[in-house]
Amino acid sequence: MIMRMSQLFVRTLRDDPADAEVPSHRLLVRAGYVRRAAPGVYSWLPLGLKVLRKVENVVREEMDAIGAQELLFPALLPKEPYEATNRWTEYGDNLFRLQDRKGADYLLGPTHEEMFTLVVKDLYSSYKDLPLSIYQIQTKYRDEARPRAGILRGREFVMKDSYSFDIDQAGLQASYDAHRAAYVRIFDRLGFDYVIVKATSGAMGGSASEEFLATAEVGEDTYVRCTHCDYAANVEAVATRTPAEVDASDAPAAHAEQTPGTPTIETLVDHLNEAFPREDRAWTAGDTLKNVLVMLKHPDGTREPLAIGVPGDREVDAKRLEGQLEPIEVEPMDEAELKKHPALVKGYIGPAVLGEESDSGIRYLVDPRVVAGTRWVTGANVDGQHVIDLVAGRDFTPDGTIEAAEVRDGDECPSCDEGTLASARGIEMGHVFQLGTKYAEALGLQVLDENGKLRTVTMGSYGVGVSRAVGAIAENTLDEIGLCWPREIAPAQVHVVAAGKDAALFAEAERIAGELDAAGVEVIYDDRAGKISPGVKFKDAELIGVPTILTVGRGLADGVVEVKDRATGEKSEVAVADVVSHLV
Ligand code: ATP
Ligand code: MG
Ligand code: MG
Ligand code: MG
Repeated sequence: MIMRMSQLFVRTLRDDPADAEVPSHRLLVRAGYVRRAAPGVYSWLPLGLKVLRKVENVVREEMDAIGAQELLFPALLPKEPYEATNRWTEYGDNLFRLQDRKGADYLLGPTHEEMFTLVVKDLYSSYKDLPLSIYQIQTKYRDEARPRAGILRGREFVMKDSYSFDIDQAGLQASYDAHRAAYVRIFDRLGFDYVIVKATSGAMGGSASEEFLATAEVGEDTYVRCTHCDYAANVEAVATRTPAEVDASDAPAAHAEQTPGTPTIETLVDHLNEAFPREDRAWTAGDTLKNVLVMLKHPDGTREPLAIGVPGDREVDAKRLEGQLEPIEVEPMDEAELKKHPALVKGYIGPAVLGEESDSGIRYLVDPRVVAGTRWVTGANVDGQHVIDLVAGRDFTPDGTIEAAEVRDGDECPSCDEGTLASARGIEMGHVFQLGTKYAEALGLQVLDENGKLRTVTMGSYGVGVSRAVGAIAENTLDEIGLCWPREIAPAQVHVVAAGKDAALFAEAERIAGELDAAGVEVIYDDRAGKISPGVKFKDAELIGVPTILTVGRGLADGVVEVKDRATGEKSEVAVADVVSHLV
């Protein structure tokens, strides 16, 4: 279907909307893609909807390719499941709440962990049903404190959210890796400049969480990135907090109460006494662990050693460490292995209190979000079920005060010995997250394992901001004269402009547009006659931002039309007879 400008439901605007803070917002409104209905709430006009659907389809194809199955939940949700996980309260003002005529409480879903967990609980009962990944592309509601930048931060927005269900951590890791790889393909196809950063997993977090940030000055996320290696982390994730901001709720004991299944300091201590008895005296709360080697496990499954609790400062070199380390990880490393890692001290974070009890074996994992100067890291056991706060502050006592330090740029990279950290800004486009058993535990999602025993299912959740992607791509590609879409998601591939008056010219433009359309090329055809000058048509074409602008104009007398690349501005003349095959 040719989109004829004479009929297309669009009016381009000469003036910027008054509330537009960022260029993409300005241009999406001016070019007639979206219109504001209320703060942070937008209507999608035909051109905008085309782009939105194309982004959706890229996301859908890549989710289907990893075997995730699409379904659709309502946005209008009952309160009870969200009460069971405490998010009815936790979400605070960010939740849109409403009541039905009988006074029953409802909410408009900000994200759907609860609903997915419950539907799997309703229908599945055995480990044989797993693994399972299901997803939806659906409208979400969050009463954001500061809706801004148009569709970049809406109060109503489209998200692809998927959830994985596995019987154990190995399964979760595989599901997580599959999603992560799918996200790489999605954002590559969407034509993003992006960076994958280690993300905060929040108070309820699992062992791994990463964000895909589109690099953009207008972004609200600040991340640090190593000048030498590929280490990158969201600054949120590396805890830029001053002592005053760190309150008692950050102490592990308090945290334990908030997180179902999190061990208390007492259970950690019991575990240490059992698994690593000391000769002189028993472990007690507040003891620091020293000379411990833990393995750092990256989301892609690679491992590297990380020293914890080695006395001395960060300059301690590998030589000093040799012979001092007592590996306590389940995959102990011998000395020869240790010597292969001269950079052992890179993850040094000072004396630490840590521990965890798990029925899947003892593995201490330390989240790689360790940045020089930060005293806060999060650790989790290998099945991702229990988050433990691993507090590396020197003066730490289990219920005591915690100091926090700031991440500075210029700090040395925690991952390689050579680089330093530089900061930049980005827009969060996607988020992959190992949830572990938080939701399954709160809502009672268990299945029978091979031995006929009930096991709590372990979950991951994975989001892509679909409507936000439209804004972010626009932001990433626009120029002074308008939008400038990548081919894969542009509302059309060719914008044919009939630039003249006589009927023969219109007939020729019509014929070319028709042939392109028949060949499967999506076409906008500016067939407007009368008062609309060629100059106005060119301006509109540039503003709308379709990749190729084809002008049927004066050259027609010599048998040529002009083909212009919207992004580079490059023009060429092509024989009328060849133009369709040239563009197909
Ligand atoms: P942000 O940090 O930008 O507030 P978030 O971490 O709260 O995002 P998630 O809960 O991780 O968002 O949701 C998954 C994805 O949904 C995000 O990565 C983002 O792309 C998108 N998203 C979140 N909030 C909004 C919003 N208000 N408007 C548009 N897209 C959003
Ligand atoms: Mg948010
Ligand atoms: Mg975020
Ligand atoms: Mg997020």
